Amino acid sequence: KQPVLELQNVSVGYDSPAGMVQAVNDINLKIYENTIVGLIGESGSGKSTLGNAIMRLLKNNAVLTSGTIKVMGKDIYGMNKNELRKFRWSQMSMVFQSAMNALNPVLTIEEQILDVFLSHDKSMSKTEAKKKAIELMDIVSIDPRYLKSYPHELSGGMRQRVVIAIAIALDPKLVIMDEPTTALDVVVQRSILDKIKEIQRVKKYAILFISHDFSLVSELASRVAIMYAGRFIEVTDSKSLVHSERHHPYTQGLLRAIPHLTEDDVTIEGIPGNPPNLVDLPSGCAYHPRCPFAFDLCKKERPGIRHVDGREIECHLYDTVQGGV
Ligand code: ATP
Ligand code: SF4
Ligand code: MG
Repeated sequence: KQPVLELQNVSVGYDSPAGMVQAVNDINLKIYENTIVGLIGESGSGKSTLGNAIMRLLKNNAVLTSGTIKVMGKDIYGMNKNELRKFRWSQMSMVFQSAMNALNPVLTIEEQILDVFLSHDKSMSKTEAKKKAIELMDIVSIDPRYLKSYPHELSGGMRQRVVIAIAIALDPKLVIMDEPTTALDVVVQRSILDKIKEIQRVKKYAILFISHDFSLVSELASRVAIMYAGRFIEVTDSKSLVHSERHHPYTQGLLRAIPHLTEDDVTIEGIPGNPPNLVDLPSGCAYHPRCPFAFDLCKKERPGIRHVDGREIECHLYDTVQGGV
């Protein structure tokens, strides 16, 4: 069966005064329909860059330095502008990080939703688009009378629901959600997550769900990719994430770490050391300066993927120590 999303050896770099920031390094991933894959990693690990790369909405100073990105079998970087314009939002869409603050403040919710319909389907009448806008509001459980409101008249949770509504307006096959609940309080987070689950059950989307929050991701996703310094250092089914001991040392660190909720951010504390400099990545395994299990080989050689109980783990330990860690 054809995957909805297929990433092959995807690398992305940012041109910066200090040199090339290697934000995404050699990522491989397939997501099939009706599947949620979680993407976890510390701040700066490359999660948003990967999401933006899939949408082909990278910043001006970023380049896809290697690899191919296919959505529904179509090479995203092989399309011309017109093909891409039609494809984006109709086949793949994204809820951007902090998107609820990116709604246009001078347009009503209705105007912003109609814009999505009418710009993709020139033959659609305004009456029909308005009807669809009401249906959408219904899906995300917002009273349709808010269609006439401006973004500032809505709560944060409602704005985030509107952003999700816009992302699914054209019924795409792939939806990327970049921290869709992070800025919201716990109760609102909960209701949005339930909404996402419900929509997923009905629409059978392939979803790439980006988050800092392990418990949230393991609840929502069937598989989880853990990103460190732009690499997937582990890809695991979410059940064994909490029930198994045998993980990449970084995953183990994250699992032990306690998430701290501060005013508008979730930080993960507990792993000593700092994330690496992406302009000058450590040799061998990029995690070696922080890894409690690091040994000689780790500095010299980058570990390839090991298959451990159905998990993919990039760590030398898993074939040097009997049974791993
Ligand atoms: P967060 O959890 O904070 O959202 P993230 O995992 O989404 O982090 P990215 O935003 O993808 O991380 O950033 C990956 C790396 O690329 C970081 O080191 C960041 O500083 C760097 N970076 C991001 N945007 C640019 C840019 N426009 N120019 C140069 N470097 C950038
Ligand atoms: Fe630690 Fe070495 Fe495994 Fe990297 S390869 S995670 S440094 S043990
Ligand atoms: Mg991000």
